[in-house]
Amino acid sequence: MVGYVVYGRGSFNQLDEILAPQRKANNPVIFLVDHFFENKPLASRIPLRGNDKIIFADVTYEPKTTYVDSLAQQLKEEFGTVSGIIGIGGGSTMDLAKAVALMMNNPGSSADYQGWDLVKKPGVYKAGIPTLSGTGAEVSRTTVLTGPTKKLGMNSDFTPFDQIVLDPELTADAPANQRFYTGMDCYIHCIESLEGTYLNEFSKSYGEKALQLCREVYVNKTGWDADSDDKLMMASYAGGMSIAYSQVGVAHAVSYGLSYLLGTKHGIGNCIVMNHLEEYYPSGVKEFKYMVEKNNIEIPTGICKGLSDEDFDKMINVSLGMKPLWENALGKDWEKIITREKLRNLYDKL
Ligand code: NAD
Ligand code: ZN
Repeated sequence: MVGYVVYGRGSFNQLDEILAPQRKANNPVIFLVDHFFENKPLASRIPLRGNDKIIFADVTYEPKTTYVDSLAQQLKEEFGTVSGIIGIGGGSTMDLAKAVALMMNNPGSSADYQGWDLVKKPGVYKAGIPTLSGTGAEVSRTTVLTGPTKKLGMNSDFTPFDQIVLDPELTADAPANQRFYTGMDCYIHCIESLEGTYLNEFSKSYGEKALQLCREVYVNKTGWDADSDDKLMMASYAGGMSIAYSQVGVAHAVSYGLSYLLGTKHGIGNCIVMNHLEEYYPSGVKEFKYMVEKNNIEIPTGICKGLSDEDFDKMINVSLGMKPLWENALGKDWEKIITREKLRNLYDKL
C-alpha cells in the first residue's frame, strides 16, 4: 500500500515540505510531468531545488517498456542516482513514474519484470500526484506497460508509491470526454470487483464507496463543479483499493485485446467494451448507458470493422491470456463459458 497520503484542495502546495526529508546529498528530485502541463501554470509551481529536473512525459501512447528504459538510462547517465521520482499527470504518467523509479535500482530492462513479483529491489523514492481521476494507478501495486511481447504490469510489493498527493484542483481543467472515459474506468473497476467471484469484505468496503461516489458525480448531478472533482478523486482512490484485493473483469479483459492490436487507450477502450456487456453486467451496463447519455458523451462504435481473422485471433489470444480477470468474472469454469467463438462475436460488435 501507499505509505503516505495527503488529500485536499491546494495540497500540491505542500510538495516542497513533503520532499525535504527525501532529498539525499546532491541527488536531484526528478519531476516527471504529463506533457499537457508544458508551459501551463502548474509547471511553474513545481518546487525545484538545486539540480532538480522536470522531464515532460510524452503520453501520446500508453507507456512502453522502451520509454521507461530510456528515461531510467538517461537519469543514470546524467546523475548516477536520484533522490526521487515524482509523477504528475494521468494514469500513464503515474505508471511511468513508478516504473522509472523501480528501474533506477533494478538491472536489465523493465520488460524483464512484466509479471508478478519479479522485481527484487526497491526503487528510489517515488511520489504520485494525479491530474485525472479514475484509473486508481495512484494506489495500485502495478504499472501497466506495453513491452516487446506483452502488455502487462510490473506487479510487485515495491511498485506502489511511497507518497501520494491528492489535490482535486489539479483535475479541474481536464476535457469533459477524457474526464468521463477515465472516470468510467473507476466505475467499471467497481462493477467488475463487486460482481466478481474474488470479492471479499476489504474489496467490497472500498468498491461500494467508490461506486456511490461515481453515482453522485455522474448520475445524481447535472454539470460539473469542484465538488465533482473532489468526489471523483476519492472514488478513484477507493476503486483502486477495491481491485487491489480482488480483480477486474470482462470489460478489462476484452479491452486489453483492443489496446494490444489497435492501441486503443485504457479508459475509452473499457467504455467501448462496457457498452456491449449486458450479458455479464446487466444493471451496470444499463447505468453506464444512462451516464453516457446524461453526460452527452460519444462512445465510438465500429472500431473492429474490416479487421482480418488473424487480427481477431490476436485480440482473442491477448484477452484469453488474462486468466485471473476471467476467473474473477466467471468463476473457476470460465474456460467453458467464454469460448473463442463467443469472444469473436463480442469483438465483432465493437
Ligand atoms: P492518461 O494518463 O493516458 O492521459 C490521457 C490524456 O489526458 C493525455 O493526453 C494527458 O496529457 C491528458 N491529461 C492528463 N491530465 C490532464 C488534465 N488535468 N487536464 C487536461 N489534460 C490532461 O489517461 P488516464 O486515463 O488517466 O490513464 C490511462 C493509463 O493508466 C493507461 O496507460 C493505463 O494502462 C493506465 N492504468 C494503470 C492502472 C494501474 O493500476 N497502474 C490502472 C488503470 C489504468
Ligand atoms: Zn482500469
